[in-house]
Amino acid sequence: MKNIVLFGPPGAGKGTQADILKEKYQLVHISTGDVFRFNIKNQTDLGTLAKSYMDKGHLVPDEVTINMLNAEVEKNPDANGFIFDGFPRTEAQATALATLMDEKNSQINAMVALEVDDEVLVGRLLERGKSSGRADDANEGVIRERIAEYYRKTDILKDFYQKQDKYYGVNGVGSIEEITVRLSQVFDTL
Ligand code: ADP
Repeated sequence: MKNIVLFGPPGAGKGTQADILKEKYQLVHISTGDVFRFNIKNQTDLGTLAKSYMDKGHLVPDEVTINMLNAEVEKNPDANGFIFDGFPRTEAQATALATLMDEKNSQINAMVALEVDDEVLVGRLLERGKSSGRADDANEGVIRERIAEYYRKTDILKDFYQKQDKYYGVNGVGSIEEITVRLSQVFDTL
């Protein structure tokens, strides 16, 4: 079983690459952002709660997010492995993920991080906001807050995985195809 955390700041290209790599490596792709957006669209209690944080560019509380992630993993008992996109985003989430994998007699094999400069991120997210319909992409203030939240709470996870010799940084600037090639070079070694 191959379990990979696809990592990077908002706008780094995780979702785009995960869609390609899940087919190539036959892995289940779980995007916490997508699950939250699905819940918002369907007006569930989880969606209402998540929206109140997402609209401000803040993270949804750990307990809520961890429970949701556990449920998504349990929906796929026969998975060959997972690509986690947007999770973990805090140390508590990373610890919870390690426990969950342990319970399955499995583990996270790698964190593969897309590295992109902040100003490139802001430009990409504003561009995406023109067509994505995502409220959090439409406003530059919210975009900058998401990036700030990333540096406050999420970026340190590089250390968490580096200490376990599981961190792989990949240049996230280039064409979609070029970046898939770079990521595949890492996936193939796992
Ligand atoms: P992006 O990485 O482009 O900002 P996502 O779709 O991954 O977008 O996430 C959108 C929003 O959903 C985040 O800004 C946050 O509010 C919420 N979210 C997603 N994943 C998590 C998580 N693991 N923990 C807390 N909040 C999350």
